[in-house]
Amino acid sequence: MKTLLEDLIALQDVEVKIFKAESELEEIPKKIEEIDSIIVARKRALETIDEEISAFEERKRPLEAELEENQSILDAADARVKRIKTNKEYLALQREGDIAKRRKVNIEEQILSLMEKMENRLKGRERLQKSFNDDKGLLEEKKNQLLARSDTLKSSLKGIKRKADKLRKTVDPSLLAKYDKMRQNKKGLVVVPCDNGVCSGCHMHIPPQLFNEIIKGDRLIVCPLCQRILYTSTKSKTK
Ligand SMILES: [Zn+2]
Repeated sequence: MKTLLEDLIALQDVEVKIFKAESELEEIPKKIEEIDSIIVARKRALETIDEEISAFEERKRPLEAELEENQSILDAADARVKRIKTNKEYLALQREGDIAKRRKVNIEEQILSLMEKMENRLKGRERLQKSFNDDKGLLEEKKNQLLARSDTLKSSLKGIKRKADKLRKTVDPSLLAKYDKMRQNKKGLVVVPCDNGVCSGCHMHIPPQLFNEIIKGDRLIVCPLCQRILYTSTKSKTK
Protein backbone atom coordinates (compact mmCIF):
# COMPACT_ATOMS: atom_id res chain seq x y z
CA MET A 1 0.00 0.00 0.00
CA LYS A 2 2.79 2.37 0.96
CA THR A 3 4.57 2.30 -2.39
CA LEU A 4 1.26 2.62 -4.19
CA LEU A 5 0.54 5.72 -2.14
CA GLU A 6 4.02 7.11 -2.78
CA ASP A 7 3.24 7.34 -6.50
CA LEU A 8 -0.07 9.00 -5.76
CA ILE A 9 1.51 11.49 -3.35
CA ALA A 10 4.10 12.38 -6.00
CA LEU A 11 1.29 12.98 -8.48
CA GLN A 12 -0.64 15.07 -5.97
CA ASP A 13 2.46 17.21 -5.28
CA VAL A 14 2.78 17.97 -8.98
CA GLU A 15 -0.93 18.65 -9.42
CA VAL A 16 -0.90 21.02 -6.45
CA LYS A 17 1.89 22.91 -8.23
CA ILE A 18 -0.25 23.02 -11.39
CA PHE A 19 -3.22 24.31 -9.41
CA LYS A 20 -1.12 27.05 -7.76
CA ALA A 21 0.45 28.12 -11.05
CA GLU A 22 -2.92 28.21 -12.82
CA SER A 23 -4.52 30.23 -10.01
CA GLU A 24 -1.67 32.72 -10.08
CA LEU A 25 -1.88 32.93 -13.87
CA GLU A 26 -5.59 33.59 -13.67
CA GLU A 27 -5.04 36.57 -11.34
CA ILE A 28 -2.48 38.28 -13.59
CA PRO A 29 -4.89 39.79 -16.18
CA LYS A 30 -7.02 41.18 -13.33
CA LYS A 31 -3.96 42.81 -11.77
CA ILE A 32 -2.93 44.28 -15.12
CA GLU A 33 -6.45 45.58 -15.62
CA GLU A 34 -6.28 47.27 -12.19
CA ILE A 35 -3.04 49.03 -13.14
CA ASP A 36 -4.51 50.14 -16.48
CA SER A 37 -7.60 51.52 -14.79
CA ILE A 38 -5.45 53.50 -12.33
CA ILE A 39 -3.59 55.05 -15.29
CA VAL A 40 -6.85 55.81 -17.11
CA ALA A 41 -8.37 57.39 -13.99
CA ARG A 42 -5.33 59.63 -13.53
CA LYS A 43 -5.47 60.75 -17.16
CA ARG A 44 -9.18 61.43 -16.85
CA ALA A 45 -8.63 63.54 -13.72
CA LEU A 46 -6.10 65.66 -15.65
CA GLU A 47 -8.50 66.02 -18.56
CA THR A 48 -11.29 67.13 -16.23
CA ILE A 49 -9.07 69.89 -14.83
CA ASP A 50 -8.13 70.95 -18.37
CA GLU A 51 -11.80 71.13 -19.30
CA GLU A 52 -12.55 73.26 -16.23
CA ILE A 53 -9.70 75.63 -17.06
CA SER A 54 -10.87 76.11 -20.64
CA ALA A 55 -14.45 76.64 -19.41
CA PHE A 56 -13.19 79.49 -17.20
CA GLU A 57 -11.20 80.84 -20.14
CA GLU A 58 -14.35 80.85 -22.24
CA ARG A 59 -16.28 82.74 -19.57
CA LYS A 60 -13.43 85.25 -19.28
CA ARG A 61 -13.28 86.11 -23.00
CA PRO A 62 -16.66 87.95 -23.37
CA LEU A 63 -15.98 89.77 -20.09
CA GLU A 64 -12.69 91.09 -21.50
CA ALA A 65 -14.48 92.24 -24.65
CA GLU A 66 -17.09 93.96 -22.49
CA LEU A 67 -14.36 95.64 -20.46
CA GLU A 68 -12.78 96.99 -23.62
CA GLU A 69 -16.11 98.28 -24.90
CA ASN A 70 -16.77 99.92 -21.54
CA GLN A 71 -13.32 101.54 -21.68
CA SER A 72 -14.14 103.16 -25.01
CA ILE A 73 -17.30 104.65 -23.42
CA LEU A 74 -15.11 106.11 -20.66
CA ASP A 75 -12.56 107.42 -23.17
CA ALA A 76 -15.30 109.03 -25.26
CA ALA A 77 -16.74 110.70 -22.14
CA ASP A 78 -13.29 112.11 -21.32
CA ALA A 79 -13.02 113.55 -24.83
CA ARG A 80 -16.50 115.05 -24.71
CA VAL A 81 -15.98 116.75 -21.33
CA LYS A 82 -13.73 119.35 -23.02
CA ARG A 83 -16.49 120.37 -25.41
CA ILE A 84 -19.27 120.72 -22.80
CA LYS A 85 -21.12 124.03 -22.68
CA THR A 86 -23.98 123.67 -20.19
CA ASN A 87 -24.29 122.39 -16.64
CA LYS A 88 -27.07 120.05 -17.74
CA GLU A 89 -24.80 118.49 -20.34
CA TYR A 90 -22.08 118.13 -17.73
CA LEU A 91 -24.40 116.33 -15.26
CA ALA A 92 -25.62 113.94 -17.94
CA LEU A 93 -22.06 113.11 -18.92
CA GLN A 94 -21.06 112.65 -15.32
CA ARG A 95 -23.95 110.21 -14.77
CA GLU A 96 -22.93 108.27 -17.87
CA GLY A 97 -19.34 108.15 -16.62
CA ASP A 98 -20.39 106.92 -13.17
CA ILE A 99 -22.35 104.05 -14.68
CA ALA A 100 -19.38 103.06 -16.87
CA LYS A 101 -16.98 103.25 -13.91
CA ARG A 102 -19.20 101.06 -11.75
CA ARG A 103 -19.52 98.62 -14.62
CA LYS A 104 -15.73 98.57 -15.01
CA VAL A 105 -15.23 97.64 -11.34
CA ASN A 106 -17.86 94.93 -11.60
CA ILE A 107 -16.36 93.32 -14.72
CA GLU A 108 -12.85 93.51 -13.31
CA GLU A 109 -14.01 91.71 -10.17
CA GLN A 110 -15.59 88.95 -12.24
CA ILE A 111 -12.43 88.54 -14.32
CA LEU A 112 -10.26 88.46 -11.22
CA SER A 113 -12.40 85.79 -9.58
CA LEU A 114 -12.19 83.64 -12.73
CA MET A 115 -8.42 84.08 -12.85
CA GLU A 116 -8.10 83.01 -9.21
CA LYS A 117 -10.12 79.88 -9.94
CA MET A 118 -7.97 79.13 -12.97
CA GLU A 119 -4.82 79.57 -10.96
CA ASN A 120 -6.07 77.16 -8.29
CA ARG A 121 -6.94 74.57 -10.92
CA LEU A 122 -3.50 74.98 -12.52
CA LYS A 123 -1.79 74.42 -9.17
CA GLY A 124 -3.90 71.32 -8.59
CA ARG A 125 -3.11 70.10 -12.07
CA GLU A 126 0.60 70.55 -11.48
CA ARG A 127 0.42 68.50 -8.26
CA LEU A 128 -1.58 65.78 -9.96
CA GLN A 129 0.73 65.65 -12.96
CA LYS A 130 3.76 65.40 -10.71
CA SER A 131 2.41 62.50 -8.68
CA PHE A 132 1.25 60.86 -11.89
CA ASN A 133 4.73 61.19 -13.41
CA ASP A 134 6.22 59.68 -10.25
CA ASP A 135 3.81 56.73 -10.17
CA LYS A 136 3.64 56.08 -13.89
CA GLY A 137 7.08 54.50 -14.05
CA LEU A 138 6.32 52.27 -11.08
CA LEU A 139 2.98 51.22 -12.52
CA GLU A 140 4.51 50.40 -15.92
CA GLU A 141 7.29 48.48 -14.21
CA LYS A 142 4.79 46.49 -12.16
CA LYS A 143 2.84 45.73 -15.31
CA ASN A 144 5.95 44.47 -17.11
CA GLN A 145 6.84 42.30 -14.13
CA LEU A 146 3.38 40.75 -14.25
CA LEU A 147 3.68 40.07 -17.98
CA ALA A 148 7.08 38.44 -17.46
CA ARG A 149 5.70 36.38 -14.57
CA SER A 150 2.85 35.25 -16.81
CA ASP A 151 5.33 34.01 -19.45
CA THR A 152 7.37 32.18 -16.79
CA LEU A 153 4.28 30.49 -15.37
CA LYS A 154 3.03 29.46 -18.80
CA SER A 155 6.29 27.79 -19.75
CA SER A 156 6.77 26.09 -16.36
CA LEU A 157 3.18 24.85 -16.52
CA LYS A 158 3.99 23.02 -19.76
CA GLY A 159 6.79 21.18 -17.94
CA ILE A 160 4.84 20.25 -14.83
CA LYS A 161 1.83 19.12 -16.87
CA ARG A 162 4.07 16.76 -18.80
CA LYS A 163 5.43 15.45 -15.50
CA ALA A 164 1.89 14.95 -14.17
CA ASP A 165 0.93 12.98 -17.30
CA LYS A 166 3.91 10.72 -16.78
CA LEU A 167 3.12 10.20 -13.09
CA ARG A 168 -0.51 9.39 -13.84
CA LYS A 169 0.70 6.33 -15.75
CA THR A 170 2.61 5.06 -12.72
CA VAL A 171 -0.27 5.28 -10.23
CA ASP A 172 -2.43 2.22 -9.67
CA PRO A 173 -5.53 2.76 -11.89
CA SER A 174 -8.18 2.04 -9.24
CA LEU A 175 -6.39 4.29 -6.75
CA LEU A 176 -6.11 6.98 -9.41
CA ALA A 177 -9.83 6.73 -10.14
CA LYS A 178 -10.61 7.12 -6.44
CA TYR A 179 -8.21 10.07 -6.19
CA ASP A 180 -9.72 11.82 -9.22
CA LYS A 181 -13.24 11.37 -7.92
CA MET A 182 -12.32 12.81 -4.52
CA ARG A 183 -10.39 15.64 -6.06
CA GLN A 184 -13.51 16.82 -7.86
CA ASN A 185 -15.40 17.08 -4.57
CA LYS A 186 -12.61 18.42 -2.41
CA LYS A 187 -10.69 21.60 -2.48
CA GLY A 188 -7.07 21.05 -1.56
CA LEU A 189 -5.37 17.78 -0.80
CA VAL A 190 -6.87 14.33 -1.19
CA VAL A 191 -3.96 12.29 0.20
CA VAL A 192 -2.82 13.67 3.56
CA PRO A 193 -0.40 12.64 6.29
CA CYS A 194 -1.82 11.27 9.50
CA ASP A 195 0.80 11.46 12.23
CA ASN A 196 0.16 10.70 15.91
CA GLY A 197 -3.37 9.71 14.98
CA VAL A 198 -4.41 13.15 13.73
CA CYS A 199 -5.71 13.60 10.18
CA SER A 200 -3.95 16.67 8.79
CA GLY A 201 -6.85 17.24 6.39
CA CYS A 202 -9.53 17.89 9.01
CA HIS A 203 -7.31 17.97 12.14
CA MET A 204 -9.42 15.37 13.93
CA HIS A 205 -8.20 12.31 15.84
CA ILE A 206 -8.93 9.04 14.14
CA PRO A 207 -9.62 5.85 16.16
CA PRO A 208 -6.34 4.24 17.41
CA GLN A 209 -7.16 0.96 15.70
CA LEU A 210 -7.42 2.73 12.35
CA PHE A 211 -4.12 4.50 12.93
CA ASN A 212 -2.47 1.15 13.62
CA GLU A 213 -3.79 -0.05 10.29
CA ILE A 214 -2.22 2.89 8.53
CA ILE A 215 1.13 2.04 10.14
CA LYS A 216 0.75 -1.55 9.03
CA GLY A 217 -0.01 -0.32 5.54
CA ASP A 218 -1.91 -3.37 4.34
CA ARG A 219 -4.94 -1.59 2.96
CA LEU A 220 -6.14 1.83 1.93
CA ILE A 221 -7.37 3.85 4.89
CA VAL A 222 -9.51 6.95 4.59
CA CYS A 223 -10.31 9.43 7.35
CA PRO A 224 -13.76 8.58 8.78
CA LEU A 225 -14.58 12.29 9.03
CA CYS A 226 -13.28 13.94 5.85
CA GLN A 227 -12.78 10.83 3.67
CA ARG A 228 -9.24 11.82 2.68
CA ILE A 229 -6.74 9.07 1.95
CA LEU A 230 -4.32 8.79 4.87
CA TYR A 231 -0.66 7.90 5.10
CA THR A 232 1.91 8.14 7.86
CA SER A 233 5.65 8.46 8.22
CA THR A 234 5.49 6.46 11.47
CA LYS A 235 7.34 3.19 10.92
CA SER A 236 5.67 -0.14 11.61
CA LYS A 237 7.32 -1.99 14.51
CA THR A 238 6.70 -5.36 12.91
CA LYS A 239 8.51 -4.50 9.70
ZN1 LIG B 1 -9.85 13.91 8.07
